[in-house]
Amino acid sequence: MAPVATRTAEISTAAPGVESKKVAGINAAADPPSAYTKDTAILHRTPFQPPTAVSAEGLYFTLADGTRIIDAVGGAAVTCIGNGNPVVKQAIKDQVEKLSPVPNMGRSNEPAEELAKLLLEYAPGAFEQVAFVAGGSEAMEAVIKLARQYFWETKQPQRTKFISRQLSYHGNTLGALSLSGHPGRRKVFEGILNHDSFHHVSPAYAARFKTPGETDEEYVARLAKELEDKFQELGPDTVIGFVAETVVGATTGCVAAPKGYFPAMKAVCEKHGALFILDEVMSGMGRMGTTMHAWQTYGDNVAPDIQAIAKGLGGGYVSIGAVLMSPRVAKGIREGSGYFFHGHTYQAHPTTAAGSLAVQKVIRENDLLKKAAEAGEYLSSQLRATLRSPSSIVAPYIFDIRGGGAFWGIEFDLGEKQTPKPFGALVQAKTMQKGLIVIAMAGSLDGGKGDYVILAPPYNVTKEEMDEIVKRLNESLEELVREYL
Ligand code: PLP
Repeated sequence: MAPVATRTAEISTAAPGVESKKVAGINAAADPPSAYTKDTAILHRTPFQPPTAVSAEGLYFTLADGTRIIDAVGGAAVTCIGNGNPVVKQAIKDQVEKLSPVPNMGRSNEPAEELAKLLLEYAPGAFEQVAFVAGGSEAMEAVIKLARQYFWETKQPQRTKFISRQLSYHGNTLGALSLSGHPGRRKVFEGILNHDSFHHVSPAYAARFKTPGETDEEYVARLAKELEDKFQELGPDTVIGFVAETVVGATTGCVAAPKGYFPAMKAVCEKHGALFILDEVMSGMGRMGTTMHAWQTYGDNVAPDIQAIAKGLGGGYVSIGAVLMSPRVAKGIREGSGYFFHGHTYQAHPTTAAGSLAVQKVIRENDLLKKAAEAGEYLSSQLRATLRSPSSIVAPYIFDIRGGGAFWGIEFDLGEKQTPKPFGALVQAKTMQKGLIVIAMAGSLDGGKGDYVILAPPYNVTKEEMDEIVKRLNESLEELVREYL
C-alpha cells in the first residue's frame, strides 16, 4: 500500500471553542468508535455498555452469566502477569493487615521506599529519584509540573513551553490532554485546553507518513529539522522540553519510531538545554519484552531526563503511576526548593506500593521480560501467517502488523471501500461477540483511515492462548469481510 504523502503543520492553535486546525493526513473530526449505547448508573468511559465481569484468572474474565471471555489486551495494556496471581493477592492482604492508611504528609512507608529503590535499579545511572502517583494521566500531569519546576529552580523561569506530537496520547486530565495531539480525544475540550504552553510536531509514523522514496535516515532528519524549526519558532530558551511516547499505543496502535529518531530528537533538546521526556505509561515496564523500559529496546543511549510509567507498574492489581527523574532533574529540585511542589492524597500508598512490589517480584522471579519477548515472536508470526496468508480473505485489508514483546498493533486499510460504521467499531463489537476483548480504534487518519486493533496480553501468555486469540480475531475479521467488504 502506498504511503500517504505528508507535510508538517501545527495543530491545536485554535482559538478557545474552535476545533483543531486540519493537519495533512490526520482526521481532525475523528470520533471514537460507537457500537452500542445503553443508559446505566455508571457513566462509562466507553461509548457502549460493557459486560459486567465478576472474576478473573490469567487472561480470562468470567461474566455474571458465567460466560468466559479472553481479555487479549489486558485492560488497556495493564495486566502484565495475568489476573489472580496468589503472590500479589497475599502481599496486598498482608500490607492491609500491617499498615494501610494513606501516607499523605509527614511519613513514608517501607513498601513505597523499597519500590522506589527497585525502580532505580532497572536502569542504573539513568534515574536518581522517583515520585509516585495513582495512574498514567496523573503521572503525566506530574511530569509537566516537574519539568516546569526544574527550570523555575534553575533560574530559567522563561521556559514555559512543551513540544509534543500530533496523534499522541498522554492522558485525559487537562494538562495531559493539552500535551496530547490526537484531535478526536481533544475536540470536545479544545476550548479549555492550554494552547500557549503546548505545541505539536509531526508523529514518527513511518508506515503512513514517510514520503515515497524517502529513506529512514531522511525521514528522521526531516522530523529532527521540524523539531529544530519549532524550537526556533517558539524561541529556544522558552522551551521546557520535547515529550513523546516511546512506542505509541492508544492512538495509532503500537507504532515504534524508526532507528535513530530518539537520538536525533534528544540531540535537539540537548542543543537548546531543554529536557527530553518519555511517556512510557503504556509501552514501559517490560511491555516491549527483554528490557524494563521501552527506550532500552532501541539500543541507543536515549535515557530521558524525565519518564512517566504506570499501567504495568501495578499490573492491574493496584492503581499506581510514577515519575522517574534523571540525576540532572533530581539535582535541580534538591538544590532548589528541595521538594516537589506536587502532591495527591493517595500517592505512595502502602497497599498500592506493596501490590506493585509483588507484581515486580513475579516478573523478576519468573523471567517474564524474556517470556514477553518470546511471546511477541510467536504472536507476530501467527498473526502474519494467518492474517496475511495468500488465501486469506482478510489479507487485502491488513495494512500493517507491528509492535514488539506483548504489544502488537494491526492496522487495517479498506482502500476505497466503506463500512456503515467505522471498521474499528465493527471489529470491537464482533470480537466481543466471540468472547475476545481487544482495543479497536477508528479513523484517526484522513478519509477515516487508521483503524487498528491492539493486542497486549500478559507477558506469561501461553502459545495455546495466543493461538486462540489469533483464531477468534481472524474469525471476527473474516465475518466482517464477508458481511461488509
Ligand atoms: N500516557 C499514555 C502513553 C497512555 O497510553 C495512557 C493511557 O492509555 C496515559 C498516559 C493515561 O494513563 P491513565 O489511563 O492511567 O490515566
